[in-house]
Amino acid sequence: MNLSEKSRNHVRKLCVEISDRSVGSKGNRLATQYVDREFKKLGLTTSQPEFDVMDWQKEGADLICGNQKFEVFVGPYSRGCDVCGPLYCASTLEELEKTDATGGILFVYGDIAKEQLMPKNFVFYNPEEHQHLVYLLEHSQASAIISATGRNGLLTGGEYPFPLIEDGDFDIPNVFMTEEEGRALLKYLGMEVRLISRSRRIPSKACNNIAKIGTGEASKIVITAHIDAKKGSPGAIDNATGVTVLLLLAELLQDYAGKYPIELVAFNGEDYYAASGQMNYIASRQGNFKDVLVNINIDGAGYYEGVSVFSLFGLTEDQQQLVHKIFAENADIEAGIPWVQGDHSIFVQFGRPAIAVTSKWMLENLETQSVTHTAKDNISIVNPDQLVSIALAIEKFVKGLI
Ligand SMILES: [Zn+2]
Repeated sequence: MNLSEKSRNHVRKLCVEISDRSVGSKGNRLATQYVDREFKKLGLTTSQPEFDVMDWQKEGADLICGNQKFEVFVGPYSRGCDVCGPLYCASTLEELEKTDATGGILFVYGDIAKEQLMPKNFVFYNPEEHQHLVYLLEHSQASAIISATGRNGLLTGGEYPFPLIEDGDFDIPNVFMTEEEGRALLKYLGMEVRLISRSRRIPSKACNNIAKIGTGEASKIVITAHIDAKKGSPGAIDNATGVTVLLLLAELLQDYAGKYPIELVAFNGEDYYAASGQMNYIASRQGNFKDVLVNINIDGAGYYEGVSVFSLFGLTEDQQQLVHKIFAENADIEAGIPWVQGDHSIFVQFGRPAIAVTSKWMLENLETQSVTHTAKDNISIVNPDQLVSIALAIEKFVKGLI
């Protein structure tokens, strides 16, 4: 089997045969088992550090106001509920600050629902504005929260409406709806409404995949791709393709005996509220990243239209030269603008050089595309040959480091 066929097979395995790779799900476990098996077949030393996570199941929700039923969606990782009470609402911080929704159901919309709130315990990026909103929501004393949201590609991909809250550490049951439904709901302000949400949190386990190639005391080349996907999405471009590049690299580098040991890491948690795989990895290093020579992170690569892009973060002169040689030699790989929504940010935050690999189309359409985190992110939009080309370029880079 040539690399192109292998690439195709890995992608198919990860996002067709396995149908759900959300953290803690059965599919997630099947995917990490698959990657470990593939690494081991090539004779690599592997480990699968495990951690506690929360899986989540939803069976819909109903919002009933008088004779009217509204279409609402269960907030990811929310608790379920069956609650009745008067409807309170707030669209600005000032309104929310004044709202005591004790015994009632709180409806938030407009200004305070314009972007998804970062999870309470998410450490990598958490604006004060979000923390304050979460604080106010938790102190509203509402027995449930309904939000009406629009579109926000940058933070939530292609989902419409998007969940305002996606946080297993936020304990007030919550649902979300479209802005249109939200406008219709406003006329029930102060009236008795009932919300039933059949949402369930399920304690589970998940693991990262780590494979080591080469030995020695020199700094490491850490190549990463997240293996988890959003629930409800096959996660083809996000990020079965990244994991496929990792597996192709395992193949290409299995006999590598260069100066710098290589660590291949499939992170389990990039699209998960608690980023548990990333937190586990950082904890296992005790926050010490000094031994990382460079990180290469693949996320969103292999889109069927257009070329791949490598975005560079703090590379040394030598590393930059090497990458520019790759740009010159590969018509389908170009320099990309910096972007932060990926696991390379961890390495950058710890002051290490990094290369983020993605599709030019994804990078250019980050804010407007409606693919990421939806059913549209499936195998039909993947070009497996682009993944081979990326793997070969990374191999060249790794072997070219002096
Ligand atoms: Zn991703």
